[in-house]
Amino acid sequence: MCWTPHVLEPEGMTLYVVPRRLTHRGRYAVVVGTAALAVVALFVVTQLSSPPSADAGQKPTTTEDGVDAELAARFAAAQDAASKDGVVLTITSGRRSVAEQQRLVDEAVTKHGSAQEAHRWVLPPESSPHVQGLALDVGPTAGALWLGQHGVEFGLCRTYANEVWHFEKLPDGLTQCPQMHPDSSWGW
Ligand SMILES: [Zn+2]
Repeated sequence: MCWTPHVLEPEGMTLYVVPRRLTHRGRYAVVVGTAALAVVALFVVTQLSSPPSADAGQKPTTTEDGVDAELAARFAAAQDAASKDGVVLTITSGRRSVAEQQRLVDEAVTKHGSAQEAHRWVLPPESSPHVQGLALDVGPTAGALWLGQHGVEFGLCRTYANEVWHFEKLPDGLTQCPQMHPDSSWGW
């Protein structure tokens, strides 16, 4: 390509000259090139500024203790409201390992004297929501009773008639807590 001046004044008087590199097409190429570089630079900066293991934009599904993150968030909101009512509300047992749950089963059999009675109070590891991080036992008793009364406002439900302390999430799509199980024998 040549550097022939692009004369814009047809009467012979050159008002200004646009060199080849600054013609419309040239400017377009420069703009596209700059934009491409910007995209590459942005990509590099983004990669460098976020650790490779981080799930960008995704909330973790469990807390560090293995409790379902949504359950933990609902409990935190309820705990805050309880505190404003002057009620202490704490977690006494959250997520449990399979071994911990089995130990509780074994202890319950000893404590209650029979497997049948033990099963009313503790579920096996394979069906316990504690092992799945989907249940919280709360205390003290006054706090548990407060949560039994107000839990549904925070999406928390007491699920066993014989346990004032055990709470799970209000199932999606419901506005009222489902009817409680009489005890945990159903899960055996
Ligand atoms: Zn429980």
